[in-house]
This record gives sequence, C-alpha cells and structure tokens, in this order.
Amino acid sequence: MVSGRPDDTLPRLPDQTESPPVVAWCRDLPVRYDADVAVVGGGIAGVSAACAAARSGASVILVERFGVTGGVLTTGGVANFCGQMEGQGEVFDAILADLRAFRALGEKGQGAQPVDRPTVFHYEILAVVLQELLLRRGVKLLLHTRFIDARVTAGRITECVVCGMSGPEALRARQFIDCSGESVLARAAGCATLKGSERSVYQLPMSMMYFVRHIAPEAVVEHLPAGWFEPVRDRNELPMTSIWPDGPGGNAIKIKVPMYDSTDTESLTAAEIRGRRRMMEVMDYHQRIEKKSWRLDHCSPIIGIREGCRVAGDYVLTVDDCRAGRAFEDGVARGTFCLDGHKPDDDKRTYILPENELGIPPYQIPLRSLIARDLRNLMMAGRNLSADQLALSSARVATSGSMMGQAAGIAAAMAVTEGCDLRSLAPQAVRDEVTARGAWLEV
Ligand SMILES: Cc1cc2nc3c(=O)[nH]c(=O)nc-3n(C[C@H](O)[C@H](O)[C@H](O)COP(=O)(O)OP(=O)(O)OC[C@H]3O[C@@H](n4cnc5c(N)ncnc54)[C@H](O)[C@@H]3O)c2cc1C
Repeated sequence: MVSGRPDDTLPRLPDQTESPPVVAWCRDLPVRYDADVAVVGGGIAGVSAACAAARSGASVILVERFGVTGGVLTTGGVANFCGQMEGQGEVFDAILADLRAFRALGEKGQGAQPVDRPTVFHYEILAVVLQELLLRRGVKLLLHTRFIDARVTAGRITECVVCGMSGPEALRARQFIDCSGESVLARAAGCATLKGSERSVYQLPMSMMYFVRHIAPEAVVEHLPAGWFEPVRDRNELPMTSIWPDGPGGNAIKIKVPMYDSTDTESLTAAEIRGRRRMMEVMDYHQRIEKKSWRLDHCSPIIGIREGCRVAGDYVLTVDDCRAGRAFEDGVARGTFCLDGHKPDDDKRTYILPENELGIPPYQIPLRSLIARDLRNLMMAGRNLSADQLALSSARVATSGSMMGQAAGIAAAMAVTEGCDLRSLAPQAVRDEVTARGAWLEV
C-alpha cells in the first residue's frame, strides 16, 4: 500500500552534470518512405501543416507516435478552442465545418456537448475529423510511429529515423516540420532550443485531465481507500481545479501539476505518476467533502503539456511583440489569445503577470519564428514556435497553432516547388498564399 508522497513523484529536473557512459548505435535502415514534406507530430499544428502542404501539391508524410491525431486536444482531453475561431485559415475552417457536420461543436442544446459555449467540442469526434481530413488531402499518415533520430548533412536534414510496429525505418524528405511540442526533431538534429524563462527554469505547468460521470448518490464508491496518498482536507489544499462540461451527465476536471520537465524521460514519468495520484486525491475531496455523486470515468492517457521546449528560430517572438500588437513584414500567422502564463512553480490559480496585464491586442507571428535558426530545411509550429515563455503562453492555443501550422505547411511546400532553401523564399509570397487561404493577418 502506498501512503504519503515518495521521492519518485517529487519535482525533478535533469541533472546537467550527469555524464553517463556512451555506446555507439549504428545500423543500416531501409528508406521506406520518401516525401516532399515530412511532419513530425500530429497535434493541431502538425495536422494543419500537413494538410496545407498537401493542398499546395506536395507529397506529405505525417508521423504520429500515438494511434490518434489531435495531440493535446484529443489525447490530452482539452475540448475547447481559445482565441479567435474565425480567420484562422482554410484548414481550421474545414475542421470547424466537419465538427459542425457531426454536431460536435458546442452549440446550445445540440450534439454531444449540450452547453452554450460555441468554443467547446467533442474531442473524440475531433480525432475522427482530423484523420479524415488528412486522408482526404492525400497525406500519408503513420500512426504508432515515433520519430527517433535525424541525419544531417551540410545543414540539411536528409532523413529521419522513425520507429513504428515494423521497427526502425528511414524517412527521406526535402523539407521537415517539427510539430512534436517537445521539439524532438530539432533536438535530435542538434538545433538550439529554448525552455522556461530568465525568471524560472521551470516550464509552464502541466495539467492532468480526467472525466467523471454523474451517478445516483447511493451508487458512489469511494475513490481513496484509507492509508492511500494524501487526502485533501479543505478547499485551500486543492491544486488549481477547473471543472468543465463533458456531455450530458459528466464533467471534465483539470488539475495543475507543476515543476516537471516534459522533455526529460524521468521527470515526465514522475509527472504522470503525480498527476494520477492527485486525481485520486481530488476525486476523494469532491466525493467526501463536496458530496458530489461522481464516478471516475477515465483519465487522459497523457498529461496535458503546456510548454515543452521551443526551437530557436531566426526570430524569437517576445512578450513585448505581443503587448505591442506588433506586425511584421513577414507576418504569416496571428495570435489572438491573452498571456496565459500560469506560474511555473505553483499548483494554484496563479499567473506570472498580474491579472490586469494578461490582456493583449492581436499580434502577428513572423515566418522567421517558424524557421529553425540552425538548419536550412526545418520549420516548426504550435508549441515549438520560436518564442519566449510568455509569448508562447498566448500563441500555443489551438487556433493560432493551426494558423502557424498552415503557414509552415505552405512555406515548406513552396520551398520544395521552387527548389530553394526556406530563407530564399519571398516572405510576401508566403503571406499572399496564407491570406488567399483564408487567414486574417490584420492587427
Ligand atoms: C491542460 C491544458 C489545457 C489547455 N486548454 C486549452 C484550451 O482550452 N483551448 C486551447 O485552444 N488551447 C488549450 N491548451 C493549449 C493547446 O491545447 C495546445 O497548446 C495545442 O493543442 C498544442 O498543439 P501542438 O500541435 O503544438 O502540440 P501537441 O498537441 O502536443 O501535439 C504534438 C504531437 O506530437 C506527437 N509527438 C510527440 N513526440 C513525438 C515523436 N517522437 N514522434 C512522433 N510524434 C510525436 C504527440 O503525440 C502529439 O500528437 C491547453 C493545453 C493544456 C496542456
């Protein structure tokens, strides 16, 4: 039986002084896949990038480690769009249209989310919508396939190594887009990355999402046997706990789990363990103290990660750019959400900035923030954007993640068509195409 909080769940950051022994790893791999554009990571940014590149006529492969696309939005159980939903571009428009076709976008009293929030969606149906959109556009989708490594020659990624159920294989492409959230491709290819901030080594906190069903009070089974974990005695001991609607007779509960590093194997493992223990403690509190007749339905298979690490790009978008509502000559996407900078080292509802400083005007995201500084054929989008921590706290949301993905997909396909490096593209040509495809750039 487990009680208390053992060391394996304490916050842990990688020990930079450790230098473990090394082994050489070398083997011949079949080049099974060849594409114009390879996208690593099938979250909203990766799906949007792949769909946009395919719309441009490029052959596109999308590599996703799970059996489902959507990333944080589906496997993380987030079921809500933040930021402006109009004018994000034709890929996001198509996603919204398909969600509406399934009555899965929260219009009052309709569909699986009978709430009057037009931003809330059914995340399991989103998973279906995204895979069908990819397939309609001819994107080759590799599920259960994890990016492992990259081969770099003369500043260009030539192949990456992926590992699905067939074992390790090589994927060759002309252009690569890292949408993994944890910048796995950029890191393997030796690119500089950014994590945390000057104020804190910690990333924005993770949150565990779990789902409850409402049942008859007499059917409630207690979730925390005596002696397990640390029962929450009163409201003040709760972590930040957000309660969302989840269809008829259910709720989604989001609890904050701070001070773990999603880019470190052991730290992410500890975060998952801690998240599930906290879930049991908070469930117990709601049943025992608040007398809620809730039954645990399921927990997201992965903890929700707000910030992994960002790829250092030709330009690092800053919080001052966001505050100024800055426009750029190479602006290709737009952020429309507030500075949602949850305090990295606290599990309460606390923010890095005072509440009156969270609001910002719309701002542009330059093409240079989507191009990896250290290579000639690597772009990034979504949580991998080249930005400081506070700028990312706004730009990371689903709407602008899709917009960035669309812009990156368009630029990567353009570089393939023109047979040039990303930096040789005329930014105005990318802007023209982005706006022709329904993205609003006005700030
Ligand atoms: C708790 C929480 C609540 C949030 N709430 C909202 C909200 O209400 N509204 C909103 O708009 N946004 C919200 N966000 C933010 C938003 O959901 C995410 O930032 C956004 O969805 C990230 O999209 P992405 O495509 O950049 O990354 P992700 O969704 O993380 O996608 C990355 C993808 O890469 C894959 N991947 C990773 N490594 C590999 C590998 N080695 N090989 C192959 N594939 C790999 C992952 O499996 C994943 O599918 C929330 C985030 C969190 C954590």
